[in-house]
Amino acid sequence: MSTEVAQNTLSSLLEAVQPPNGGRNIHDPATGELVARAPEHGTEELDAAVAAARAAQAAWAARSHGERSEFLNRAADAIEASAEALAELLSREQGKPLNGPNARFEVGACASWLRATAALDLQPEVLVDDATSHAELHYRPLGVIGAIGPWNWPMMISVWQLAPSLRMGNTVVMKPSEYTPLSVLALAAVINTELPDGVLTVVSGGREVGERLAAHPGIDKVMFTGSTATGKAIIRSSADTVKRLTLELGGNDAGIVLEDADPRAIAEDLFWGAFINTGQTCAALKRLYVPESIYDEVCDALVEVARLMPMGNGLDENNVLGPLQNKAQFDIVARLVDEARAAGARVLIGGNPVDDQPGYFYPTTLVADIANDNSLVVEEQFGPALPIIRYSTLDDAIAMANGLDVGLGASVWSSDPAQARQVAARIQAGSVWINKHGAIDPRVPFGGTKQSGYGLEFGVDGLKALGAPQVIS
Ligand code: NAD
Repeated sequence: MSTEVAQNTLSSLLEAVQPPNGGRNIHDPATGELVARAPEHGTEELDAAVAAARAAQAAWAARSHGERSEFLNRAADAIEASAEALAELLSREQGKPLNGPNARFEVGACASWLRATAALDLQPEVLVDDATSHAELHYRPLGVIGAIGPWNWPMMISVWQLAPSLRMGNTVVMKPSEYTPLSVLALAAVINTELPDGVLTVVSGGREVGERLAAHPGIDKVMFTGSTATGKAIIRSSADTVKRLTLELGGNDAGIVLEDADPRAIAEDLFWGAFINTGQTCAALKRLYVPESIYDEVCDALVEVARLMPMGNGLDENNVLGPLQNKAQFDIVARLVDEARAAGARVLIGGNPVDDQPGYFYPTTLVADIANDNSLVVEEQFGPALPIIRYSTLDDAIAMANGLDVGLGASVWSSDPAQARQVAARIQAGSVWINKHGAIDPRVPFGGTKQSGYGLEFGVDGLKALGAPQVIS
């Protein structure tokens, strides 16, 4: 554990995470240039990491909540001291710009999430206390947590998984996405300057390592954030060991604009609700329902905002939108927009990626007059293309919003908060925001309904999810 917090540069971070030779080449999605090599770990490294985590767990659990919170706060200090280098690495590997609600914002959120998790208060609950009986509910450490993450917000989501796990007295083995291992390895290297050995280990490997982690007898719970398809695979591979699971899966969040909304006043928040991280966000606005009476005004206001938001290489401070992280995701977005256009939908802006530039840039795209059963509406685009669907009655809009088998987030846009609340109550989603979208908070629980997963993250409920409930009576 350091007494002075080290300040890293990009090259010192890469030196800490690159293997001496070999490994997987990681390319910058904006330029195609090599960023660095990432270690390719397999079953042997996974088994060693789980063994180290098990060995370290008892001593970690023996510390008090206050002591563990102190470690989390120091880890936050370490992240802040190396924030610019971490943001640069994140931008180069993931593609997101430094500026805007992107790389610097993500690194800042890592530190603030650690501090907020450290500050949560979890007390034993007295369930019954009368003349004949006394019962209390406690939350004990579960043991070793396996954390499997995606490539869209690799650092922040890692912290969402590790902070409550560590706070509750568990140790952690992380398996980052094979698309963004460097960001997670570097973040963990910084955090590990403050943690005892074995408490947090990163195993950098492909999906087969994730599969093995989910089945591993030495893992007590899996925290998973990623696609619904992979979530189902994890349910299956974790079944034999009856593992606890928190599954934060895919979404296709609806936003409903009510007739009394002011199109110009809401346009910028609507835009960022949909296009944060260039649309590669689990709880981004992915389908927008707008009433006939203000449809054209909302479309015009959104186009106006979209024109003002520069997209390009993330290291250029001007840019607030970046490339798609990988070719597979670029192809999904391109296919969905092409299908919408072929079906007669109207592309208001974007829709024509330029072939002769390097990088997976797909232009900011707004698609109007699109049918609710079009694939751009029904499938998760996970990129910068927003379908805007016209509705005539509020009941229709709510039925369309609830018509899919996912339910992560949703939003209602109105000048009348009371009416917006009534509409919110009728939407099937784990979080419904009013006049904003995707505004998560480390003190407020977050999780999906339907096939968007189960279990809660954040807040005291998020801590409880990383504990084994025990009743003493
Ligand atoms: P993904 O499911 O393809 O991969 C996620 C992780 O799972 C990777 O680390 C991968 O190696 C691993 N993996 C793949 N197959 C596995 C298996 N069989 N067993 C165990 N692990 C396996 O997801 P992605 O493409 O990285 O992320 C995009 C998806 O994640 C989108 O659907 C998005 O909506 C969702 N997501 C959800 C949230 C949320 O909080 N609900 C947050 C971010 C992303």
